[in-house]
Amino acid sequence: MSAVLEKEQAKPVNAPGREYTLERTRNIGIAAHIDAGKTTTTERILFYTGLIHKIGDVDDGNTVTDWMEQERERGITITSAAVTCFWTQKQTKPGENEIYKACLGVPHRINIIDTPGHVDFTAEVERSMRVLDGAIAVFCGVAGVQPQSETVWRQATKYKVPRIAFVNKMDRTGANFENALNDMRKKLNAYAYPVFLPIGAEDQFAGVIDVVNQKAIVWGPGDVANEGLNYEIKEIPAEHRERAAMALEELIDAVSNKDDEIAELVLEEKPVTPAQLKAAIRRLTCKIELVPVLCGSAFKKKGVQPLIDAVLDYLPGPLDVPLAEGAEPGTDNKVVVETSDSNQFCSLAFKLWTDPYAGKLVFFRVYSGQLAKGDTIYNPRTRKRERVSRLMIIQGSERKDIERVYAGDIAALVGLRNITTGDTLCDEDFNVTLEPPTFPEPVISMAVEPKTKADRDKMSEGLQRLAEEDPTFRCFTNEETSQLIIAGMGELHLEIICDRLKREFKVDANTGAPQIAYRETITAPADGEGKFIRQSGGRGQYGHACIKVQPNERGKGVEIENEIVGGAIPKEYIPAVIDGIEEAIKGGVYAGYQVIDLKVQVVDGTFHEVDSSELAFKMAGIFALKDAFKKANPILLEPIMRVEVTTPDEYQGDLLGDINRRRGVIHGIEAKGGQTILNAQVPLAEMFGYATAIRSLSKGRASYSMEPLTFEQVPAGVLNTILNAAAKKPAART
Ligand code: GDP
Repeated sequence: MSAVLEKEQAKPVNAPGREYTLERTRNIGIAAHIDAGKTTTTERILFYTGLIHKIGDVDDGNTVTDWMEQERERGITITSAAVTCFWTQKQTKPGENEIYKACLGVPHRINIIDTPGHVDFTAEVERSMRVLDGAIAVFCGVAGVQPQSETVWRQATKYKVPRIAFVNKMDRTGANFENALNDMRKKLNAYAYPVFLPIGAEDQFAGVIDVVNQKAIVWGPGDVANEGLNYEIKEIPAEHRERAAMALEELIDAVSNKDDEIAELVLEEKPVTPAQLKAAIRRLTCKIELVPVLCGSAFKKKGVQPLIDAVLDYLPGPLDVPLAEGAEPGTDNKVVVETSDSNQFCSLAFKLWTDPYAGKLVFFRVYSGQLAKGDTIYNPRTRKRERVSRLMIIQGSERKDIERVYAGDIAALVGLRNITTGDTLCDEDFNVTLEPPTFPEPVISMAVEPKTKADRDKMSEGLQRLAEEDPTFRCFTNEETSQLIIAGMGELHLEIICDRLKREFKVDANTGAPQIAYRETITAPADGEGKFIRQSGGRGQYGHACIKVQPNERGKGVEIENEIVGGAIPKEYIPAVIDGIEEAIKGGVYAGYQVIDLKVQVVDGTFHEVDSSELAFKMAGIFALKDAFKKANPILLEPIMRVEVTTPDEYQGDLLGDINRRRGVIHGIEAKGGQTILNAQVPLAEMFGYATAIRSLSKGRASYSMEPLTFEQVPAGVLNTILNAAAKKPAART
C-alpha cells in the first residue's frame, strides 16, 4: 500500500464534529498540603472561567467544589469532585509562535479534579493522580514545602504526573518566594525554575514578572470574570530589571541542560526567542524533567489567569502523555490503548459518588474511543454489560447532561449499578483491564452500632454504599461479637463516615473507641488439613481439604490457587473450600486480625458420595487454613506512621525523648528558619494522645503531621499485651 493511500485511510484521532479536540483538552489536578489554598485556587479558576458568577470564599463556606456539607463546615476538601471548565487564552503576548497563536482565542476544555490535602484521604489523591495528565502543585508562600505537599508530590511522581508549581499566598505576612523555591529543590528534589517572579511580597505584593517574555503583569482592583482580564502587561519597573534578566538567564541555562534545541542555540550563541523557550519548557515539563514555578495570591485574585494560561502552555494534553496500558483479563498479555476517538472504547472508573440530586454517579476517564447515551459498556471484572442511559459533567454546582464523551475526557455515568472504583469499562470486543490504582490498608478501626436497633439494616446498607465509594474504607461484622466494625485511614476519616451516615442515610451511630488495625501474617511455609465430618443418623456431613501456605511479599496480598487435579475434591465444591479459606483469612487466626500477604494452594482432599456438601467443604477450608497458619510461624504486624515534628530548638530534647518512649525511630533532625524538624517513624499504637503530649511538652509551640508508612512486626513485649487483650475482649478489629 502506498504511503499516500495509508495516510488517506488513517482514521482521525479526533472524531469529526468534536468540539474540544484532544489537543485542546487538559485533565489536571490541584494538589497540596491542607490550607495551602487549593480550594481557593480552584474556586478562582472556576470564577475566571465563567462557571460561577460570585466568588466564594472558603472562610464563608460557600465554595463550589467543597459542596459536601461537612466539607463546608470543616473547610477541607474531602472528595475529589471532577469539575469541567473552559478557557480561552485572550492575551496576545509578544513573540508568540505559530503553536501559541493557534491556542489564542480557541476555547480549551479543562477537567479539574480537586484533590484533598488531609493525610486521612490520600486514597482520594492516589485515585485522581491515576487519571490526570498534569497537576498544579499549590504551595503556601509562607510555609513552603509542608509534609503533606511532600506526600502528594511523591504520589504525583509515582503516577508520572507532570507538574507546574504555584506559590500561593504571596500577600501574606512572612511570604517568601525564594524560600519556597529552595524548599522545592531541596525537599522535593525538583528541577524547579521560576517562570514568574513576584513583584513585592506581603501587603506590597503587586504583580509578577513574566520571566519568559520579560514583562511585568500588574493587577488592578476588581473582579473581572471571563470576559476580561484584571491585569495589565507593562514594562518591568527599573528596580526589578536586573533580577528579571538574571532569572531569564538561569531559566535558559536550566532548559539548555536538558533540551537539545535550546542547547544548540546557546552553543551557537544565537538568541532564544520566548516562543522557543516556552516550547522547550513545555517539552521538559511534559517529560517531568522540569517544574515551572509560578506565584500569586489566589485569595487576592492575583496570578490566577496567568496560571490557567500556564495550564494550557505547559501541562500536557491526553496526546502528550504515555499511552495507557492494560492487560487481557486473566493473563499477563499487555495491551496498549491508543489515544484516539477512532479506537474501541476504553475507560477507567475512578470515583463513585452518591449525588443527592442525580443519584449514583460513576466518574470515569476515557482513554480511547467514544461513548454515547444509549450505548452499552462492558465490565471485564464482572463480565457484565450495562446500558448507558445518562452521561453528565459537573460544571461548578451544576450538573449538565451530555450526549457523548470522547478519548481523553472525564465525565460521569448516571445510575449504573455494578461498578466499583478501579473498574475498566470498555467495548466488549476490546477486552482489556487497565491497571487499577493501589490503595493503602486501613490502619484504624472502631465498632459502630445504630442508636436505635431498628436502624441496623439501614446502617449496614449505608456503610456498604460508602465502602463501595471509598476503597480505603471497610466495614464488616465481627463474627464473635456480631458487632459492626468500620476501618479506615484515621480518626477523622471514620468520623466523616459516621457524619455521612447521619446526613445521607439518616442513621445516628454510637461509636466505640478507635482501635489499631493489626494484621496477621506468616513467616514460613506449612501444610494444613481440615476435616468436617458429622455422622448423626440420616444424612451426614463430609468435607476434607488439604492445603499448603507460604509467605507472600509484603504488600502483595492474598493469593489462593486451586491445584487439585483428578477430582480429589469434586469441581463443584472447590469454590466452597476457597470461600472457607477466605473467611478464615478475614477473621484472622492468631489474634482475630485480618491475615495478609500469603499464598495458599488447595492441593488435596477427599469426599463422600452422599454426605459431601458445600457447607461441609467450606468448614473444611476454614479448618485447613487455621491448621496451616498455626504451623507457619505466624506474626502480628502493626501500622507504622511517618511522623514529622516542627518545633522551636529549645524543646527538641524533650520531644526526642518522648518519641523514643513511643518506640519511635528518628530518621533526621534538620534546622530550618529557627525551627527544628524531626523526622521519625513511630508505631500508630503509640500515637494516641500525641496531640496533647506535644502541646504540653512545647507549651503549644510545636506541631506535627503523620501518615501511614508501612506495617511491621510487633515486638514480643507488646505482642503479649495485645494477645491478652484480644483474648479478653474480641471487640473492634479488622
Ligand atoms: P485548602 O485546604 O488547600 O483547600 O486551602 P483553602 O483554599 O481552604 O485555604 C485555606 C485558608 O487560606 C483559607 O482561610 C483561605 O482564605 C486562605 N487563603 C487561600 N489562598 C490565600 C491567599 O492567596 N492569600 C491569603 N492571605 N490567604 C489565602
